[in-house]
Amino acid sequence: SRAQAMEIDASPTVSYGDIGGIDDQVREVREAVEEPLTNPELFETVGVDPPSGVLLYGPPGTGKTMLAKAVANETDATFIKMAGSELVRKFIGEGSRLVRDLFELAAEREPAVIFIDEIDAVASKRTDSKTSGDAEVQRTMMQLLSEMDGFDDRGEVRIMAATNRFDMLDEAILRPGRFDRLIKVPKPSIEGRERILEIHTRDMNVSDDVDFADLAAELEEYSGADIAALATEAGMFAIRDGRAEVRRRDFDDAYEKIEDAEEQTTIPGH
Ligand code: ATP
Repeated sequence: SRAQAMEIDASPTVSYGDIGGIDDQVREVREAVEEPLTNPELFETVGVDPPSGVLLYGPPGTGKTMLAKAVANETDATFIKMAGSELVRKFIGEGSRLVRDLFELAAEREPAVIFIDEIDAVASKRTDSKTSGDAEVQRTMMQLLSEMDGFDDRGEVRIMAATNRFDMLDEAILRPGRFDRLIKVPKPSIEGRERILEIHTRDMNVSDDVDFADLAAELEEYSGADIAALATEAGMFAIRDGRAEVRRRDFDDAYEKIEDAEEQTTIPGH
């Protein structure tokens, strides 16, 4: 149903302090999304329009959804999330109907932040195959573009989207007045990983023998989501061992377990 396709969170709880290793991106999101919501007169006075839409792009699990939730939370806005894959519908007109509903709902609930995850599902470069399914996806994208074009940039609804596949996007959605502020969200650096480890063990009873800087150095290529999973798994090892304290050993066991599982699911050549 339509209601199920959208996730509405009137008071998201994620805050900027929960996000580690991407301070520049937090700053950029605050400038592009928070500032126009909380200080619209500034834009009025200076005589510039704030960015219409903010596109977050980068690998999975790096904090893109968190960024959108946090900015909604910190501005007391309703968070309305829609997955791009949900907009790809079987019946003609269903996808565009959902897009219209999305913008209508946001207007009713303003201030609001619309977040379209996996936007590439509806906004990829035109494929060669002219199947009817593609035509329907095209129509949905057209509806999205038309909603954005008819949008008051100085209003109380901000639009954000995310993708892991920036290179696949149709340039039409990146034109001025559409997603005209691009923010790259990369995997964390070693310092970022250390910070994310600290965040995800805040509520854990961690032994003094755990050196986060040293651990972070071992977690090359780990995303924030990978680090969150590692911390949980380390906690599970301590529990299994009947200990109240999580030790370095638990993190190492967790690391090994995750790496083993990874190996088993990786198809050779991929
Ligand atoms: P996807 O592209 O797969 O949708 P995403 O970039 O939107 O991923 P999130 O949903 O924001 O990723 O992150 C998933 C989880 O990983 C978060 O709930 C959080 O626990 C953890 N996480 C990811 N990035 C960070 C970060 N920078 N700081 C702290 N935790 C993070």
